[in-house]
Amino acid sequence: METDRTADDVFGLLADGIRLDILRTVARAQQENRKTGVAKLSFSDIYDRVDVDGTSKLSYHLGELTGTFLRKHENGYAFTHAGEQMVRFVLAENYRHPSDIGTIETDGACLHCGETGLRAALHDQYFLLQCRACDRPNFSYTVTPAQVQAHDGAALIDAVTWTLVGDLVKMRQGVCPDCAGRIDTEVLDASDQPVGDTVPASFATSSECQQCLRFMSLPLTHAAAYHPESVAFHWEHGVDIMGTGMWEFHRYLHDGEWTAEQIETDPDEYRVALRRDAATLRLYLDENAAVTRTERVQRRDRRDRRSR
Ligand SMILES: [Zn+2]
Ligand SMILES: [Zn+2]
Repeated sequence: METDRTADDVFGLLADGIRLDILRTVARAQQENRKTGVAKLSFSDIYDRVDVDGTSKLSYHLGELTGTFLRKHENGYAFTHAGEQMVRFVLAENYRHPSDIGTIETDGACLHCGETGLRAALHDQYFLLQCRACDRPNFSYTVTPAQVQAHDGAALIDAVTWTLVGDLVKMRQGVCPDCAGRIDTEVLDASDQPVGDTVPASFATSSECQQCLRFMSLPLTHAAAYHPESVAFHWEHGVDIMGTGMWEFHRYLHDGEWTAEQIETDPDEYRVALRRDAATLRLYLDENAAVTRTERVQRRDRRDRRSR
C-alpha cells in the first residue's frame, strides 16, 4: 500500500467529481447502516449508488482513492483517517465562506480599556469580538460555514465558546486540537508581547504545535482557570467556567480579582490567584504552564484590599 504520496499527489486525487461522490456515498451508507454497525461498503453497493460509466471506471477510481482516503477490506471499503477528515469537510461544505452573522452584542469586558460590552461580527471570515467603547479587538477565532449555518445570535456565541473550551482542554494536556500531534506550552512575560502594554495581564501562555503550526496565546490566569480545581472552585461559587466565554474573564484582570506572579526562577514557577467572594484559589504552575499544586484560602484581607 502506498505511503509516499506527496500533498500535491493527494489533493490531485480529489480533483474529480466521481471520486468526491464515492467518498460522500461511503459516508451516507455508513450513516444509514449505523444501526447494523456495518462500516464498509462493497464494490457493487458503491456501483449502485454512484453515477459512473462502467465497472472498470469505478475500479480505477477506487484504486486511486484506496490507501489515502479509503481502506479496502475483504468485503468492502471504509475510510482512512484522511478520508474521514476530508469527507466531513466536504459534506459540511466548510470550504465555502461563512455566511454573514451581522452584529451580535454580547457580555464581557474589554481586555484593553475594561469597559463592559463587546460585539461579535465576522471579519475576513474570522469570528471577531470588538470592544463597543474603544473598538479594539478582544478575541478572534475561526468559525466554519457549518457553525454559522447551525447557530445564530447568542447560540453562535455559545458554539464558539464550546469550540474554544474543547480546544483549550486538549491543549492543556499537550494534544493539538487540530492534528492531535504534540502542542508545547511555555509561559511568557506579557509585557514582551505585541499587545503587552495595553492589557493588564502580567504573564501569558504561548502554545505551538510543531507539526501543524497551530498557535495560541492567552493570559496565564485564563489558562489556569480551565484546570479542574478551578472549574470546581468556580462551580461552587456559581460560575460555570467551561460554559462562559473566555472574554468574560477579562473583567477579573481589570478589577484585580485574578492575578498572576512569578515566584521562582530557574526553574520558573508562577502563582495564579483566582478570587471569588471571600475565597481564593491559588494555582502553582511550572514554566510550561502545567499546574503542579493548588490551595484554597479564605480571604481575611478583603476589606483592606478593597479600601486601598
Ligand atoms: Zn475597550
Ligand atoms: Zn497540530
